[in-house]
Amino acid sequence: MHSKQQSDSADEIRRVTVITLGCSKNVVDSETLMGGIKHHQIELVDDVENADALIINTCGFIDIAKEESINAILDAGKLRTEGKIKKLIVAGCLSDRYGGELKADIPEIDHVFGTMAFGEIIKTLRPSLKYELLGERVLTTPSHYAYLKISEGCDNPCSFCAIPLMRGGHKSRPADEIVREVRYLVSQGVKEIVVVAQDLTYYGLDLGGQRSLADLLKRMSDVEGVEWIRLMYAYPSKFPRDILPVIAERSNICNYLDMPLQHISTDVLKSMRRGITRNTTERVIAEIRDAVPDIALRTTLICGYPAEKPEHFDELCEWVARTRFDRLGVFEYSQEDNTVAHILGDPIPDEEKQRRCAAVMDIQREISMEKNDLLVGKQVKVLIDEPLDVEYRGRTEYDAPEVDNEVFVRSERKLNPGDFVVAEIDDAAEYDLFAHVVGDG
Ligand code: SF4
Repeated sequence: MHSKQQSDSADEIRRVTVITLGCSKNVVDSETLMGGIKHHQIELVDDVENADALIINTCGFIDIAKEESINAILDAGKLRTEGKIKKLIVAGCLSDRYGGELKADIPEIDHVFGTMAFGEIIKTLRPSLKYELLGERVLTTPSHYAYLKISEGCDNPCSFCAIPLMRGGHKSRPADEIVREVRYLVSQGVKEIVVVAQDLTYYGLDLGGQRSLADLLKRMSDVEGVEWIRLMYAYPSKFPRDILPVIAERSNICNYLDMPLQHISTDVLKSMRRGITRNTTERVIAEIRDAVPDIALRTTLICGYPAEKPEHFDELCEWVARTRFDRLGVFEYSQEDNTVAHILGDPIPDEEKQRRCAAVMDIQREISMEKNDLLVGKQVKVLIDEPLDVEYRGRTEYDAPEVDNEVFVRSERKLNPGDFVVAEIDDAAEYDLFAHVVGDG
């Protein structure tokens, strides 16, 4: 930790703004930090104009994310120079990776911290404080849904990924602690719990020597008041099949699974060190769909990885067209320092990466349109996210917040965020549905 004027300014910190960048796991970290800040009677303010200190929880995942974090820091640096804030604190993945460089290049930064440095950050705000964390997060998502992180870090060796460099090896949270947090979230009015991790399916291996996500899911699903449990970031290799009957049998576990696959060509998967082949990937997908027939499968792919030859890309496109994922996202390959793949260079030009990403999304858009068209005339359960001018925006159990499809619902009666309704689909677009309420959910 590096600091300026540590002794005199700290006591003047009365109001703090926390800016969160990056993924849902970073959201949970910020909420945990904010819980600690609030616990120590330091006021949280949304508007940085009213803050004494600004904390930026950064993302260091890939180029575009790093750029966004650096721009946010530079903007904050101006506020620091103008004296509008007394302290600029940078934390999270980007500063975990490049703390020294950030501090050297942006002198307006007062302190840099890595990930999970909640105690140190709060002590920097109020050195006199004896830091303690009650684990009561300050939720920043709309109050009816919340992310729940069940583990930190990752033990997988994916060649392109810098996350283990920033987040460390896999560490599962104790199941009792997680179930306690589920109860706490429900007591705060949360209806939908979005379960996240770097690798969800690895849960428990470091606790009892075997994967125990299925048991954890049963305990979470048994908590009274949980309406929806959604699973994000499953890893395909050594996929724990025993979670499938739990998903199928439990009505409060969404028939939804996010499983980033990154690619399908066995050659590329080998170079990516994903520990899986095309055949095994296809078998896992088939088993998931057999066990939970109406499951919505979401995946994420990378285009432009150094070892991706044109024939590998063609194979990827043919496979996306045939596998018909329900939800799909794609990233351009980003060459990351200190990753195994870094040595391969970055031979595929950005324009070609963009062309490949667009080509995959063109295929997916058609699939999504065809699947949505089949829902017209059908009735679905919708969770209302927010009121709009003449309708409401919501989601089905097949749609995760912020990344998937949405349903625009017309209703004669007033609805509130967090309400469940049954809606009949009147019309469809590529990624959206249009519906009217026909009953309570
Ligand atoms: S599973 Fe692979 S891609 Fe995901 S966080 Fe771990 S190393 Fe990175």
